[in-house]
Order: sequence, then structure tokens, then C-alpha cells
Amino acid sequence: MRSRTLLWRVAGIAVVALTAFVASQAVRRPPLHAEQAKRRLERHAASRRVVLVSIGGLAPRVMAATPTPTLDRLVREGAATDVARTVSPPMTIAANTTMITGRRPDGPDGHGHGRKPKEDGGQRWSAIPEPTIYSRCDDEGLRCALISQRDDFAHFAADERGVDYYVRSDETDWLLDEGASWMRREEGDFLMVYLADVDRVGHKDGWDSQEQRAVVTEIDAHLGAFLEALERDPRPLTLLVVADHGGEGHRHDLSIDANILVPFVLFGDGISPATSLGADVSVMDVAPTVLSALGLPAPVPWAGRSRYLEQSQIAAPLH
Ligand SMILES: [Zn+2]
Repeated sequence: MRSRTLLWRVAGIAVVALTAFVASQAVRRPPLHAEQAKRRLERHAASRRVVLVSIGGLAPRVMAATPTPTLDRLVREGAATDVARTVSPPMTIAANTTMITGRRPDGPDGHGHGRKPKEDGGQRWSAIPEPTIYSRCDDEGLRCALISQRDDFAHFAADERGVDYYVRSDETDWLLDEGASWMRREEGDFLMVYLADVDRVGHKDGWDSQEQRAVVTEIDAHLGAFLEALERDPRPLTLLVVADHGGEGHRHDLSIDANILVPFVLFGDGISPATSLGADVSVMDVAPTVLSALGLPAPVPWAGRSRYLEQSQIAAPLH
């Protein structure tokens, strides 16, 4: 009897061991789509969502002369300045590339205006060899998107690693709606928005014209609806609204204050309300600010400063 009991016990242990072995083999079996699965496993959400809105050509003096209840709320409840400085010369691609790369257009550490030679002899905006917000997204397994109203951004989005989603539309309300939906649908970590209408109307009808002021008010209303949609998602949100340049007359290529001065408004999770950011803010601060709000350090050669860490009520990034 005793030996039969022992036999059953040995058999039982063998079954348990075999089951454990089979189970461990099942776990170790490579998934069918190894790369996707690896990416999904490695992906982790950022500590908070970050949305960067770059409003092409929004001069602070035009903003001040125009009813903008949404932007006023962001300034009132956030940390802001209306004397931030953009790059020189104050041009669209150079300034937006600086926002993404944290580098000046010129000099040894410069991004060279973000343009690469095209086959037809011209130049186009393209992937940037230096680290960008998007390449850092890719390194860290964050989900990051770009929505815009300029064709140049499509070339950049197609070439640049880390742009998980890109869409272009002239319809501001549709575009912003799509951006907010993408953030919710894909649990997005970072979204950059580029809006072109203030710049477009500036070139056509003049900076600070009645037509441009009307567009600024219209965009402000769209931003209000966008913010409402973003705030429906309970995840913490930090929003940064900036402009790439101002303008005077029908142009913005000269390095004068009317073109160089831009608003810089930081709002949302971790930001002290009603704070002035002072006078030494630059569009070079955009990339380090976005990364630190995502919980990531900025690459060493970046010249700008994170305004998020300075304004954050949270002592340190969460990971
Ligand atoms: Zn322009």
C-alpha cells in the first residue's frame, strides 16, 4: 500500500512539473508579430499627456487687441509671457524645427533650418538627424502625433521616426477634433498641432488687420472646443501654446520685435496658475519643456530651458 501511495505521489509531481514546463514553453514561444509585440510590451505611457499648439504668425499685440476668451483663460490659469522670442530670421520652418529640435537654426549645433536638398534641386523639410521630440518618443516607446495645416509637415512626418500619426486639413475644427480623438483613441502621449490661418490672412490682408483679428477670435473658439474635448479624458494634461513668429504689414522676414516676439503659454497639470514667465523665454525652450512634461530629460546639446520643471508643482518626473 505504502509503495503504491509513493508511486502516485511521484506521478503527481511529474504531472505538475510537466504542466509547468509546458506552460513556460508556451510563454516563451515567440509571438507571430514579434516586432509589434515587443514594441507594445516596451511601450509605457508618459506620466501625463502633452499637447503643443503652434499658431503660425500669432503676434502678442494682435492677441491683446482681439477677444480671445480661451487664450485668456490659459494665461490666467497658467504660466505665460507675451515677450518670448523666436528664431532669427523669424521664418516658419526654421522656428517650428527649433520647437521640435531644441536647437538654433544656425551655428555648429544648429539644425540648418530643417531643410534637405530635393531631387529637383529645391529643398524640403525632412527627417532631422539630430534628436527631436519625436525621436525621443520613439526611443521611449511613447505614442506621438502631428496634425498640421502645411504640406511641409507631411514630408517631415513621413521621414521622421516617432511620428505615429499625421494628418493635414485646412478645416481647423475638423483637424483639432481629429487630434483630440486620436489622443483618446490611441492613448496618445504627445500631440503637436500647427495652425496656419493667422499667418495666411496676415500675408493676404496684413498683420493686425480686421480680417486677421477675426481669424484669431475664430481660432480661439476652436481652441476652446479642443480643450474641452481633451479635458474629457481624465489623464493629466499639460498644454503649451506658442507662435512661430509675429508679423508686420504683409510679411515677417525681418528680425524686428513685431516679428520676433511671440506668446508662450503653459497650462494644465503641474503648472502654477497666474505666473509670469518673464522676458528670457525662447522657442528653444519648447522642446525641453515638452520632454520634461513627458517625464524625459532633454538631450545635452539643447540650448533651451525646460519651463515645465521651473513651473511644475511636482518636484521630479514620475519615471
Ligand atoms: Zn508666413
